[in-house]
Amino acid sequence: MAQRPGFPIKFSTQEKVAPAKVPAKKTASTNPQGLGLDSSAVRQRMVQKLAAQGLKDPMVLQAMGAVERHRFVESALVNQAYEDTSLPIGLGQTISKPNVVARMIELLLEVTDGKLGRVLEIGTGCGYQAAVLSHVATEVYSIERLKGLHEKARSNLRHFRLANVHLLFGDGMLGYPKGAPYAAIISAAGGETLPQPWLDQLAVGGRLVAPTVTASGQQALMVVDRTAQGFKQSVLEAVHFVPLKSGIS
Ligand code: SAH
Repeated sequence: MAQRPGFPIKFSTQEKVAPAKVPAKKTASTNPQGLGLDSSAVRQRMVQKLAAQGLKDPMVLQAMGAVERHRFVESALVNQAYEDTSLPIGLGQTISKPNVVARMIELLLEVTDGKLGRVLEIGTGCGYQAAVLSHVATEVYSIERLKGLHEKARSNLRHFRLANVHLLFGDGMLGYPKGAPYAAIISAAGGETLPQPWLDQLAVGGRLVAPTVTASGQQALMVVDRTAQGFKQSVLEAVHFVPLKSGIS
């Protein structure tokens, strides 16, 4: 079992620690002040677990290792930020499990060589997945229907200064035609069916990944590839996402 960090965790605000100032023998487990327990090491352990679970795209693993998930959760939940669990982010919504975020982005990258072009994310939530996407795509358009979360994401992301992330407030069921066509579309909320605008706004050669209710009444990951001949749909594993809702609030 990997050793769990004690509470309260002290995350270093600066990732690059000047080596000369760090006493050679101090480690995360022996340092009583927790100075060695920097978030980078905790994230690397999370990445190792993701790799052990079968995730293998180097770009995705690199992005998961780079984005500080603890900056997206309430301070009371910071000690769980790198565990493979979904966490509440307010207004009845949740930040997805790291494993699910990595899995979905890995699926998107399967159909491209290298980075993705423009990506549309439905359900910004706290902004975590948008930050991960910013490492694997040239532009990220992320739309959220709850004003409170849209604003929270804006404030969470300010720290990272990600020039390629565009946060939008609106009903993601309509997509975002101004950024279309998209190389990839990813939804963090699950509906009964796939909204037509998403299919319309997907580029030829692009891929859409979204939780959707299947014939059995359960939610599963749906993958849609758009080819010159039309759309090809596959149903993957069962998942549990918050519901996709229409309108704004
Ligand atoms: N990617 C997010 C996950 C948030 S949970 C993160 O990293 O935190 C899913 C989000 O989808 C919720 O915030 C919910 O409000 C939002 N959502 C649901 N239906 C939506 C819609 N039609 N348009 C935009 N956002 C929607």
